[in-house]
Amino acid sequence: MKIKKAEHMGFCFGVKNAVDCATKALDEESKIYSYGEIIHNQDVVELLANKGLIVINDIVGTIDKIDAKVLIRSHGVSKKIIDTLHENNIEYIDATCPKVKNIHRIVNKYSSDEYEIIIIGDSSHPEVIGIIGWINGKYHTINNFEEIKTLSIDREKKYCLVCQTTFNNNIFKEIVEFLNENDYTNIVVNNTICDATIKRQESCINIAANSDVMLVVGGKNSSNTKKLYELCKEKCEKTFLIENYREIPYKYIDKNTKIGITAGASTPDWVIEEVIQYVRESE
Ligand code: SF4
Repeated sequence: MKIKKAEHMGFCFGVKNAVDCATKALDEESKIYSYGEIIHNQDVVELLANKGLIVINDIVGTIDKIDAKVLIRSHGVSKKIIDTLHENNIEYIDATCPKVKNIHRIVNKYSSDEYEIIIIGDSSHPEVIGIIGWINGKYHTINNFEEIKTLSIDREKKYCLVCQTTFNNNIFKEIVEFLNENDYTNIVVNNTICDATIKRQESCINIAANSDVMLVVGGKNSSNTKKLYELCKEKCEKTFLIENYREIPYKYIDKNTKIGITAGASTPDWVIEEVIQYVRESE
C-alpha cells in the first residue's frame, strides 16, 4: 500500500491562531464564549468545550446574558457585533484571520466611496455574513460562474469585487476572465482567496489524479474541506470526505491501493496522523 500526503494540508495560520487563542484564554479563565463553533472539527470542539468554551450563535440578542469574554473566530463578524460588544463593555478576543479582516477593510472603504460590492461566495457562510456586515450600501453575492452572467451590471456605476477566502480558485479565474472579455472596466477586482486555500487546492489535485482512493480529512460542514473534496472527486472517483479514522472506507482499500491524503484547514495534525496510522494498520 502506498500512502501519499498532499504537500499542503491541515491547519492554516488563521485557524491555528484561533485555536491557540482559545486554548490560552481557557488556561486563564474558567469559561469563555465563542461566537459560533471556533473550528469545523468536532473532536477539537469537544476538547475545548470540556475546558469551558461555550458556543453561542447570537451575540446581539443575548448580550445581557454574556458574563465572560467572547472569542471571535477566524471567520470574523459584522461591525454591528463588534460595536455591540464595545457598547456593553464586554471584553473580547479577536481571532479574526488577518486575511478576512483585509476583506472587511476593502468592502468598508469601497462601499463608503459609493462602489457597489460584489461578493463571490456562499451568502449563508459566516465569513460572508461577516463581510456583508462591513458594507455601507448596496451589495450582490454570487456563488458560481453562471450567476455573474445574470447579474445586471450597470456600466455607469462603480463596483468592487471580493471573494470568500476559501472559494474555488479555478471558478474565480473563469469569472475574472468573463469580466475582462466583456470589458467591465468599472469593476475593481480583488482576489481575496487565501493562499493557504490555493496551495491546499493545488496540491491535492495531483495526488488525487494519481491515487486509487483519495481521503479528504475534515469537517463535513467545512467550506474549504468541501472544496478539496469536489476538486479531488473530479480526478479520483473514489474520493471520500472523512472526519476522522472511524470513517475510513476500508472496503475500498487493500495492500495494492494507492492512497492519497489531504485535509481541510481546520483539521489538526493529530487527526490526520490517526487516519494514516489506521490505514497503515489495515494492511
Ligand atoms: S483559510 Fe486562509 S483566510 Fe481562512 S482562516 Fe485560514 S489562513 Fe485565514
